[in-house]
Amino acid sequence: MDTTNFATLGLTSSLVSAVTALGYEEPTPIQREAIPFLLEGRDVLGQAGTGTGKTAAFVLPMLHRLAKESAKRGTTRGFILVPTRELAMQVAEATHKYAKGQTLIVVPIYGGAPMDQQIRSLRRGADIVVATPGRAIDHLKRGTLSLAAVQVLVLDEADEMLDMGFADDLEAILEQTPEGKQTALFAATFPKRLQSIAAKHLKGPARVTIAAEKRAAGKLPKVRQTAYIVARPQKMQALDRILEYEDPQSAIVFCRTRLEVEEVTETLQAHGYGAQAIHGGMLQKQRDRVMGLFRSQKADILVATDVAARGLDIEHVSHVFNFDVPLSPEVYVHRIGRTGRAGREGVAITIVDPRQSRLMRNIESLTRQKVEIAALPTTADLRARRVSSTIEALRATLAKGEFSELRSVVESLAQEFDVVDIAAASLAMLDDSGRSGAPAPAAASQTDTAAEPPGDRQRSDRPEPFAILKIGAGANAGIRPGDLVGAIAGEAQIDSSLLGRIKIDDDESYVEVPASKMRDIVAALRATKIRGQKVFVAPLEQRPARR
Ligand code: AMP
Repeated sequence: MDTTNFATLGLTSSLVSAVTALGYEEPTPIQREAIPFLLEGRDVLGQAGTGTGKTAAFVLPMLHRLAKESAKRGTTRGFILVPTRELAMQVAEATHKYAKGQTLIVVPIYGGAPMDQQIRSLRRGADIVVATPGRAIDHLKRGTLSLAAVQVLVLDEADEMLDMGFADDLEAILEQTPEGKQTALFAATFPKRLQSIAAKHLKGPARVTIAAEKRAAGKLPKVRQTAYIVARPQKMQALDRILEYEDPQSAIVFCRTRLEVEEVTETLQAHGYGAQAIHGGMLQKQRDRVMGLFRSQKADILVATDVAARGLDIEHVSHVFNFDVPLSPEVYVHRIGRTGRAGREGVAITIVDPRQSRLMRNIESLTRQKVEIAALPTTADLRARRVSSTIEALRATLAKGEFSELRSVVESLAQEFDVVDIAAASLAMLDDSGRSGAPAPAAASQTDTAAEPPGDRQRSDRPEPFAILKIGAGANAGIRPGDLVGAIAGEAQIDSSLLGRIKIDDDESYVEVPASKMRDIVAALRATKIRGQKVFVAPLEQRPARR
């Protein structure tokens, strides 16, 4: 196992704390590759697109270097060029976060924003400037920005800058930077023009790519792969809806950071799912507890970081969810390998930010498998899905034929109503309960097992309903709960943990028993004695069970 972490890369402890506080557990491949070269002071030519963690790959070493020279505070020593205003804001924000605890000042400058405000910020002193090329040229011409003291220059998404027609601006800007600076150039693709800019301005660069090894499709497990394109603010809602639609038996939801794991877990729990978090910031004891719950299927959703899930051998995962496109295609392959074990078909679902679609294409080319892009299930889809699972469950119950006690109920209703109406009304009640989360009607009720999370979701793998067994003897005959449990467990061979509540009145007792076992229990108890006497035994009715 690779034990590289942010500290072993050689970063200062304050940078390591900053990324740990953000919930990062380990460097991404591009960070692992590029950071050591940049810390050595070498120029770097990196091939990496958005969503690979490239920002931290160049910002962390830049901060490491600039923090050392406190005498030069306030002069622009770090300069990052990016193609768009949006990226400028994003990179500046990320830099600010990574620089937490240091006094370095980061200023973004981009077009479309008032010039005088940016001039004031630059005048106050900026250690790191993040700029779009056009606006950088404006400031250079006005003399409000100087690149004379730049020690570290980054060209981020350089191919995009060329595509947007900034080639001449780039050249002009590079001319104004000092000879001895360190330069890092990142791009997803390397067209000719970019290669020649790199050849002219980078000195003996270390080349860093995260070109993924191709993997034979045959080696991948059988997994249905789907992606949903969803903007960041709607991701949680989307996950909720997909979970409801897929109704996974057992799922792992992968997140990038510890913080995200905690947020997603809390939200899922609040929505009634049996979700449990696992990440590298937890004590081993806590992790073991969570794994115990997941293995015994008392928690049906595990929300995990890659680090925490690594090395866990979990057999029964029906669905893997990627709350984000993973930071490298290898991680994707590793994640989806958690499902589809033992020849069963698994399901892998990825929620993709529109900006990350390139990453999805990298993944497809690595796995040589198509990932289907789907539209989120609509409310109508959810309803149709519920109806079809009700029908499935109904077919199964009809096939088993273990409902003779209820036939008499239907027969008596049939004297008043049409049989088809009775059946349809029963279904409507079931459907209602599924939608509102209200207690289910008698025939469809289920227990909430103690290990289930708070909330009122109806699960398809619900425990079976209870029916009430009436026994014609009670406290006056000296009957105690243990006698009833003993008789049922002993005579009918029913595990006592399957029994529900027991109520002992003066002359009668009642026991909640699994409805499907009622017939066997009645037959067994009729053939035996309880506390030495023959007793009246009969099903009372079916009723929602509680614990
Ligand atoms: P970037 O490719 O730089 O745009 O980063 C993509 C996303 O990954 C950002 O939201 C970062 O905060 C996040 N990120 C970067 N590095 C890591 C890491 N080592 N672990 C977890 N998340 C990361």
